[in-house]
Formats: sequence, C-alpha cells, structure tokens
Amino acid sequence: MRQAIENLIHFEITKGVIQDRDVHYVRNQLYYLLKCEMMDDLPKPKQIDYPSDALEDILNQLENKNILDGSKISRDLMDAKIMNVFAKLPSDIEKEFYNRYQQEQASATSWYYHYMQSLNYIRMDRILKNLSFSADTSYGMLDITINMSKPEKDPKSIILAGQTKSSDYPKCLLCAENEGFAGHYTRDSRDNHRIISTTLGHDTYYFQYSPYIYYNEHAIVLSEIHRPMVINHQTFSNLLNLCDQFEGYFFGSNADLPIVGGSILSHDHYQGGKHVFPIEKASVIKSWKKDEITYELLKWPLSTLRMKGTSKTKLTKKAEIFLNAWKSYENQDLMIYAKTNDTPHQTITPVARKKDGLYELDLMFRNNFTNVTYPLGLYHPHEDKWHIKKENIGLIEAMGLAILPARLQTELEEVKRYILNDTPLSNQARIHLSWADQIKKMNNIDIINIDQIIKHEVGIVFKDVLEDSGVFKQDDTGINAFITFIEGVLS
Ligand SMILES: [Zn+2]
Repeated sequence: MRQAIENLIHFEITKGVIQDRDVHYVRNQLYYLLKCEMMDDLPKPKQIDYPSDALEDILNQLENKNILDGSKISRDLMDAKIMNVFAKLPSDIEKEFYNRYQQEQASATSWYYHYMQSLNYIRMDRILKNLSFSADTSYGMLDITINMSKPEKDPKSIILAGQTKSSDYPKCLLCAENEGFAGHYTRDSRDNHRIISTTLGHDTYYFQYSPYIYYNEHAIVLSEIHRPMVINHQTFSNLLNLCDQFEGYFFGSNADLPIVGGSILSHDHYQGGKHVFPIEKASVIKSWKKDEITYELLKWPLSTLRMKGTSKTKLTKKAEIFLNAWKSYENQDLMIYAKTNDTPHQTITPVARKKDGLYELDLMFRNNFTNVTYPLGLYHPHEDKWHIKKENIGLIEAMGLAILPARLQTELEEVKRYILNDTPLSNQARIHLSWADQIKKMNNIDIINIDQIIKHEVGIVFKDVLEDSGVFKQDDTGINAFITFIEGVLS
C-alpha cells in the first residue's frame, strides 16, 4: 500500500497536478483515507504509466482488509475519492484554464484534457482497451470502435444497486451538480470531476471531457439548467459560437426526439472534440450558392445538407428555415410522415465546424416514425442488423463512427472459428449465424485474411445501418426528392 501511494504521489508530481510543496499534505490525507499507518522509512517511488497502476494495488489491499466489499462499484467509488485528494477546487481549475486561454485557446484545452487524465477522471487505461478499425465502403472509410472501456456490472454490484434507495440528486448524469458528487451503488462517483463554465447566448453552460472518450478530446457541453434537449435557432447559434470558443473543435448536438436522439434527452447538451469524422470527407452530389451561403448535398447515408459561409447569423437563420420546413415536410410515396396525430417525427442532428476560414453546418434530416413492421423505427437499424447494432444512431454514429457493444469482441472470435473450422456458435453468438454463413460463402478465406474480412463485413453492416437511418435514400428517387425539398426551401 505504502509503495503504491508513493508511486501515485510521484506520478502526480511529474504530471504537474501537484507540486513538491504539496507532498506532506497529500500523503497525510491519503494515509487517513486509506487507513494506512505512517512509518518513518518511506518506500522509494517507482515510475508508473497511469494512475490505475497504483490504484489497482491500493484497491486490492483495501479489499483484503475488508475496507471495500469486493464489488466493482465500490472500487470505482473509492478510486475517485483517492484521486480527489490531488485535485484543485473547481474555481482554481477554471482560473488556470482561462489564464492559459488568454494566451492560447489550444493550450488551455490541452492542459485541461491532460489534467483530467492525470486525475483518472478520463480513464485512459480502460479507453486503450477499445478495439478500433476502419472499413472501406461506398461512402469512404467508416470508423468502428468496439467499446471495451465501460466495465460490465458484476453480480455483486447489481445486488448492491438493487438494495440502494434511488435518489433524484443530481437529476441526471450530466447535471452540473455532479461535480464532486460522492456517488453510491446506483450512481457514478464524480469526486474528481471538474467542469469549466462558459456563456452561450444568455445562458451558462459547462465544458467537460467525457470520462469514456470515443475520439480525441471528446468534449461535452451541458447547460447549467437541467432541461430537455432541443433543436432550434439557439442550438445552431450555440454550436457555431462554440467553434469560435474552442479552436479546432467541432460541436454537434443529438436530435431532440426519441429513437433518433442520444441516450440522454432530459438534459440540454452538446458534444464536441478535436477529431475528423468520416462525414467531413464525404463527397458532394450537388451544390447551390445563394446569399453568400454554399449548400452541398452530401453523398452520405444519412440525408445531409452542408451549409458553408462566413456569417454565423446568416447560417443560423437559414438553418432554422430548413428545420421548420423539414418539420412540416411530407412525402407519402417515400413514407416520410411529419406527424402521427400530434406527435412530431421530424428533427435535425446538426454538426458545426470551422474550416479554412468558413463556418460549416451539417444538417442531418431525421425521422422517428414507427409502424407495426418497424416498431423501433423505420429510419433506425432494421432487425437483420441488430446482431451488430440495435441502439439509436446518435450524433457520433451519424458522423460515421460506430460505437459497438463489448459483447462483439468474443462473439466475432466465435464467428471467425465458425467460418474457418465449423466450430459451432454458442447460444450468445448464434445471432450472427446467417451473417456468418454469408461470409463463409466467400472465396479464398483463410487464417491470414479472416480478421480483415470480418472487420470489413462489420463495417458494411454499419454502412447498412446508416442507410436504414437515412430518410431520403441514396438512390435516384431519394436523391431527387431531397433535391426538390432543398430547392423548395431555397427558392
Ligand atoms: Zn441533468
């Protein structure tokens, strides 16, 4: 225990999270928290690569001493408290961020990003376990990540969660009140969580990094008030303004309706980051120029119109006109319905970025209509692809990065053995049977190329999933209808 504590202290000094001057304070706090006895001869620190290298050791010993109950959750609850000993107060972090921001925006975000990694809020050791690859498709390269970083709940944690009285504080996982929140068996600990305030329009928002980053500098911007997601004039304006506030970052919003939105519709928030998504490289099918704005219909499975211009005000106004036109657009032949009774179906997933001196705003037109044949959504992954992806196609997927469930890692290994050696699929992996049979029919599959072939085929399923989610299909009929809609709004 004492060795691991010294290793962790040394790590945080080398990362600049604490100074040599802080060592007595930090060590005393940790010894008290971890019920460790102080001795005169301190072990010499050894170099570690991640805070988790020391934390794992400490947590194991706490379990041996029965201070922790052996559930995975109790470990995560405790390690956030250990790391919080090293963390500055939110106001100090914000001050340091904005001092750096005055000098250079990028140095402020880079400092904060690395600070949150050093504090183990961003758990890099878990994120590095993700499996990522790209697949060449008719829309260019699409990116795939099998998400291994969110630990599965162990049985003991599930039992303990069941015995815990649920609480509505903080109201959701995104609320600003999570900063420093101790958590419990049903809510993640956020002791070492620190967020940066900013202003958008007349409202206060907070900038933070996602603890489970899916791409470089994966940021979340959340409103100070717990209120539902909304796509409107202010959303477009906020996203474009964020691109000015955080240099080199894109910002997008999930749609504000179920099925086509993200997992949290109850709290107004955006996502951003320093990453080029496949959609950014999509080719253009047709373009228009009007009132100093260029409009481009993209070759992209989700129906996307890209707007480019120098004026944020003009782009925002025009985007709002497109949003309103879309909300009332109907095309019975293509099964595009604006409403069922009074329930609206149409909205937009928007993405903003700044490139070569121009602002860009991608409008992805979405529809959440369901019927008996497609109870989860007509413009949602269809059932034949659920073995790979059943969840909503939110902002990140819509831009061309699939976040796929951890179960696929073992299931795809089984598919591989089934194709190569006819090894029967387990009950869990049988959902892939007809897909695996199709792959099996391909010629020249061998042990050398099988991994590459399976990855490519996963990419093709993801492409098909995105095509299911596209409202105007990328065939002549669909593209012509999309063109008619765009030209109708522009005229
Ligand atoms: Zn909330």
